[in-house]
Amino acid sequence: MSHNQGIAQFAYGVIESLDSEDTEDVNDYIERLLFIFPESLLLAALDMIDRENIIKFTTPWGYSQYQAFGSTATYNVFPRVTSGSRKTEPYCTCPSFAFSVMLSKSEYMCKHILAVMISSKLSKCPERSLGPNDLAKIVVMQCSNV
Ligand SMILES: [Zn+2]
Repeated sequence: MSHNQGIAQFAYGVIESLDSEDTEDVNDYIERLLFIFPESLLLAALDMIDRENIIKFTTPWGYSQYQAFGSTATYNVFPRVTSGSRKTEPYCTCPSFAFSVMLSKSEYMCKHILAVMISSKLSKCPERSLGPNDLAKIVVMQCSNV
């Protein structure tokens, strides 16, 4: 496990440690996140949540996916999934994730993944249900983004 992966695991742990019912703790929680995340990244993520630029889509068969609406593009964010002992690491289709996280490994998370994790934890994420037609549109959009 690389250094960055270690930090990422720790960061996920802090994010997941927040009890979504315990909203009084939000400021305290954000202060804790400031120890791990650069302030600019955290503020950008919180700003996206405030503007409701993060939408959770749920398919009829219970699969969740997020979309992050940026000023120039929309990215698909696949959250971290834990099922049993298997963990799927989060993934985002934005250029920052591809270059800073995957290639140069200078960052361990992009603002979209951070925003998705925080908003779902704070239950501040607007949800939409997806029918098969909507899902097809997302797949098409995703392919044309690449
Ligand atoms: Zn991203």
